[in-house]
Amino acid sequence: HLTDEELLADPVEKIAEVGGTRHPSIPLPKDLFGAWGNSGGIDLFDRAILKATSDAIAAAPVPHVGKAAGSDVGLAIAKAQAAFPAWNARAPEERAAILERYADLLEANRIELMAYAVKEAFKTIPDALGEIREAADFCRYYAMQARGILAPRVLPGPTGERNELRMGGRGIWATIAPWNFPLAIFTGQNVAALVTGNTVVAKPAPQTPGIAARAVELAHEAGVPADALILVTGGPEVGAALTTDERIAGVAFTGSTPTAKKIARSLLEGDDRAIVPLIAETGGVNAMIVDSTALPEQVVADVVTSAFRSAGQRCSALRLLILQEEIAEPILEMLKGAMQLLRVGDPADPRTDVGPVIDDAAYEKLMAYRESMRGRWIGTIGVPAEGRFVPPTAIRIDRIEDLNAEWFGPLLHVATWPAGELTKTIEHVNAKRFGLTMGLHSRIARSAEIAEARAHVGNLYINRSMIGAVVGSQPFGGEGLSGTGPKAGGPNYLPRFCAERAVSVDT
Ligand code: GLU
Repeated sequence: HLTDEELLADPVEKIAEVGGTRHPSIPLPKDLFGAWGNSGGIDLFDRAILKATSDAIAAAPVPHVGKAAGSDVGLAIAKAQAAFPAWNARAPEERAAILERYADLLEANRIELMAYAVKEAFKTIPDALGEIREAADFCRYYAMQARGILAPRVLPGPTGERNELRMGGRGIWATIAPWNFPLAIFTGQNVAALVTGNTVVAKPAPQTPGIAARAVELAHEAGVPADALILVTGGPEVGAALTTDERIAGVAFTGSTPTAKKIARSLLEGDDRAIVPLIAETGGVNAMIVDSTALPEQVVADVVTSAFRSAGQRCSALRLLILQEEIAEPILEMLKGAMQLLRVGDPADPRTDVGPVIDDAAYEKLMAYRESMRGRWIGTIGVPAEGRFVPPTAIRIDRIEDLNAEWFGPLLHVATWPAGELTKTIEHVNAKRFGLTMGLHSRIARSAEIAEARAHVGNLYINRSMIGAVVGSQPFGGEGLSGTGPKAGGPNYLPRFCAERAVSVDT
């Protein structure tokens, strides 16, 4: 182990050394997965390193918190339009190399970016590190993918004819990112559009403009031309100005289902308007089904991580735990005990497991709902009185059908299912028509097969937690009310950003 002196001398380097503990058994190539993903594991740090990191974060200046750039959408689009031909004409290799430089810069500036994540998005320190890792992973992964898919492909044809398929940019993409992954998802959307030759007008969530502004500065420093990636900030009016503009060639959106539908409608308006793609990643009412063969300790650990980590503010988070009747009571007893160990509080404190929720509106909505379910509480815990801390709470419901809304916070609903009815139980979950994540805990191979065949979700997690999809390993995104696909961090994402052209020449 390192001495305190070594730790405090250069905590940033030490994070790099210990940062990759999530997959010790999987030899991922360092050059591709340098950042090792958006870890769902909590044991990221040696305690001393955590402390040193938190001190560095506390001291880091973050001048843009809560504010950034401007909101002149019309001007931004005009500039991005002018920048498109030259950027799209650059060799794909050049754009890929810029993304890799960007990944390096994100990592080199990790303490400052983590400070934004903690101070602006109220992320805990491990979650803030996850942001950097995932953002860098997106850059490196899409750089690698772009080299493959953007190379011209010669296709078969009769003698005397040359056929080629070429992929390139479509034009200007609008990216609309959420506050819950204000660096990772923001960066992932932008670099996917950029590496395929598009220019981008990027709108971060109104809660997190500062980290977005810094991320855009670093992209420019990496070599993205200033007008190829332009930040616009503001609320829904700025988003509407973007998506109703006829010059936009595509929209990548992560946020709520109703907003995704609104965007889809607005993209169809205007008789002369081109038909443009929308990539939407929205929410879910994500369930975990547990049978009597599951390992209780593992179930409880995975439930706590999936439901309460990040204060439940992940689209992937567990919302509905469905326990086989026979094991419900003992598992719930263990869960109540495990919940008592969660430390809720200041996200900058390295001991914190669960921080505050994002804003007053979220706090009030969650607390009012929680209060309305008071008679159904199974377990909850105490939290500091000052601050927007929603107490992690488990709430009993009578039937799986009783939960149809996504409560975006640390509120876990619990139902039961009778032995022998796995298929029916999965169908009840499917009937909600969301389809983001689902979990199954079972040691029966046949049950896993049933879940794989029946679950209508984009990400099925068996015998593990349901959060922390790793770029390149767990392509992420849902179906039905949870989104359009293609999946971020997967091999089919980039083609959706491309114009696909076949050229046939009679030689
Ligand atoms: N990719 C994240 C995860 O797997 C969730 C993304 C989101 O909340 O939008 O936990």
